[in-house]
Amino acid sequence: MPVLQPTHHPADEHLLDYAAGAASEGLALLLATHLTLCPECRRKAAAMEQLGGTLIEELPPAAIAADARERCLALLDAPEPAAESRSAVTAVTNPVSAAPLLPRALRDRVGGDIDTLRWSPVLRGVDQALLVEGPGGARTRLMRIRAGHAVPQHTHRGTEFVCVLAGGFSDLSGHFGRGDVAVSDESVDHQPTADADGDCICLAVTEAPVRLTGRFWRLLNPFVRF
Ligand SMILES: [Zn+2]
Repeated sequence: MPVLQPTHHPADEHLLDYAAGAASEGLALLLATHLTLCPECRRKAAAMEQLGGTLIEELPPAAIAADARERCLALLDAPEPAAESRSAVTAVTNPVSAAPLLPRALRDRVGGDIDTLRWSPVLRGVDQALLVEGPGGARTRLMRIRAGHAVPQHTHRGTEFVCVLAGGFSDLSGHFGRGDVAVSDESVDHQPTADADGDCICLAVTEAPVRLTGRFWRLLNPFVRF
């Protein structure tokens, strides 16, 4: 059976930031997660690293990011596509499966696999496990949307990056499954809805709390911070 690969990818500018070591902590974690699951972007990022290395040789040493070499080596050490793929999604529905659900970059950050997370309820059918908090309400967290549940209609303050780890969700721009990256900003007003056949677990990186826009929900903006 062919291994499914992600079909929604981050933009080249984000991969470039990652390759240059210029992405924020949360975004770097999300991109590392996507790269683990996406051979196509992994090749692209490796090529960017290589190109960056060539350019850097022409620059004074002070211009080189301190961890650029480590990041480059870690990327090149990334496992082959077959090692971590969309097929690991079976871990959600098949408890005897030994395949970890969280890609390596996330397991290292969390200190284990999905069962080590402590979920807190956000709204009915939506839980989160906070990983990193930044200034201005910036957050990096794992979100769990229960099967068939929808996140209330909302738009964004700043950019939101989401990488699906298990299950899937749909919104106006299509369907997102394991490894897929969704990027939304102030111009996107959506209501992501988890697939009916299983919980959707994603890594979400937001620059600021979302702004609820639904007829009822928008009244709750002063009280809901997610
Ligand atoms: Zn990709």
